[in-house]
Amino acid sequence: MADVGNVKSYAVARVAGDLMSPANRRARLTVFCYHQVLTGFDNLRPGEPDEQQFLNDIRLIDRVFNVLPFGEAVKRLESGSLPGRAASITFDDGYANNHELAAPILLSAGVPATFFIAGGAIDRGVMWNDLVIESVASAGSASQATKLSATLAELKYRPMAERWGAAERMYRNAIGPDLPRLMMTREMVADLANRGFEIGGHTLNHPILAALPDDAARSEIEGCAAWIHDVTGQTPKSFAYPNGVPGRDYQPKHAVMARDAGFEAAASTEWSVARPGTNSLNIPRVGPWWRQGRTLTAGLCRGYLKSYIAR
Ligand SMILES: [Zn+2]
Repeated sequence: MADVGNVKSYAVARVAGDLMSPANRRARLTVFCYHQVLTGFDNLRPGEPDEQQFLNDIRLIDRVFNVLPFGEAVKRLESGSLPGRAASITFDDGYANNHELAAPILLSAGVPATFFIAGGAIDRGVMWNDLVIESVASAGSASQATKLSATLAELKYRPMAERWGAAERMYRNAIGPDLPRLMMTREMVADLANRGFEIGGHTLNHPILAALPDDAARSEIEGCAAWIHDVTGQTPKSFAYPNGVPGRDYQPKHAVMARDAGFEAAASTEWSVARPGTNSLNIPRVGPWWRQGRTLTAGLCRGYLKSYIAR
């Protein structure tokens, strides 16, 4: 966007933020949701930033917002002790590029972040949707993008074993017998924790919780808390619902399960900004809107206004 990198636009955004997201009792919390940082543009993953774009994002966020780890930020939203223009940066799933590309940028900027990890995907090395993406890409047909989104949308809501079976078959037929490792290793997750990043849960196998029987949903949520404790030695306090659309991908009962498993804050993928009184287990998030067709200040105001109008 034209206004990114422009010192005046940061100043305007900060003034707007000071008005709509002051410190303490009337504070708002803007939570950014990332998945991957790539070495270069990938037309199959067009929404994911490359290193340079991510560096620009972090500089921008750091100039406009006061960034806190997700768990701490939600706790301070609840107690009315957030700084003005508060924000958190979160990553879902646990891709290796979070450790290789994102973490060094965050560390050198001195900006905290929270990584929500699907432990089963770490142990398997890959997410099922990436197997589908790689398989369809190797076919190289003109209609590949259409076919890809149709396949992903269809498989997403199938039972887990069926979804994984279909994705693995697709990959082995299209590419070969050995599945790639795209996710972090356990050692990388532990390294992020040692470097001071918050590690949160994202279930074990990334199911749509609302599509699971209750006992299976509960063991996915409890299992990821135990997995993180195993790997990092720390008890996770933050969680993100897979796919994350409230009412469709998870229900209020899943928030209760998360709380029972020891999580104190949980993130959805509803596009909004949290306000005083927002349920700590239903914290909405936003994407970096300045790369998605809105100017810095317009997107910022849209999020804050939504938090004043909602409910
Ligand atoms: Zn996810």
